[in-house]
Amino acid sequence: MYLGGNVSIAGGFDKCIDRIVTIGGNCLMTFASSPRSLETREISGGEIVKYLEKKAKHGIGPHFLHGAYLVNLASESKTNLTASLDSLIFYQRFAGQINSVGTIIHIGSHKGRGFADVVDQIVVAINYILDSSPKGIRLILENAAGQAGTESDDLKELSQIISRVGDRSKIGVCLDTQHAFASGYLLDQILDKFDRAIGLKHLTLIHLNDSKSEFNSRHDRHENLGEGKIGLENLKNFAKDPRLQNIPFITEVPGENNSGPRKQDIDLLKSLVV
Ligand SMILES: [Zn+2]
Repeated sequence: MYLGGNVSIAGGFDKCIDRIVTIGGNCLMTFASSPRSLETREISGGEIVKYLEKKAKHGIGPHFLHGAYLVNLASESKTNLTASLDSLIFYQRFAGQINSVGTIIHIGSHKGRGFADVVDQIVVAINYILDSSPKGIRLILENAAGQAGTESDDLKELSQIISRVGDRSKIGVCLDTQHAFASGYLLDQILDKFDRAIGLKHLTLIHLNDSKSEFNSRHDRHENLGEGKIGLENLKNFAKDPRLQNIPFITEVPGENNSGPRKQDIDLLKSLVV
């Protein structure tokens, strides 16, 4: 099984491989730019070569990119929407250069406007990104916690978006257990509901996280596995579901002092699926 975590690219893109190897994962997720900005910078050919060599040497599996936090396809601001699209097109092209699966995105927030008012804009934006994506590179939509009007906290809304996308073979879905829990889905029911609303064939990866915030609280606050409101038993029962056998798991937990997953977090993740 592919089990890994989110790691930093600080100091050079290839360093993400050193970091995932150090904590014992065999798949990974990274940003390809500063997560708190929509600015991007080209990553040099030299860094890419070093990255690809290290990835092959250590036998590391799928790499998922995560779009910058400011990406908002539901934005009312044309400037912000254009910057979001430019950033994601950069990410998708880069994904092609490093043979990544694709880019995971939070669709964004309508900040008070209703879903019906923004769905057309979201679908047009997604089609535009897919048209500009290299062959085989997916745009992966993540379920949201529902904080401050974020889209896709409701699986039926996510399903509506997907059903209107031109080329659905280029769409993936990332299911985040913390976001599901915070948006009112119990983990022992989420896969059935996901299958009915979206179809498990679209499920590309799991973000396995515990939750600092309460059930249905609509707060996006991750906790280390077993230390939050979901708890180890529920996470284990979910992770061992046979329908997830071939699905990569990425944990995005705070670790210690918010420095991200440590070796002990990946070890715990491994212990949940055996
Ligand atoms: Zn996530």
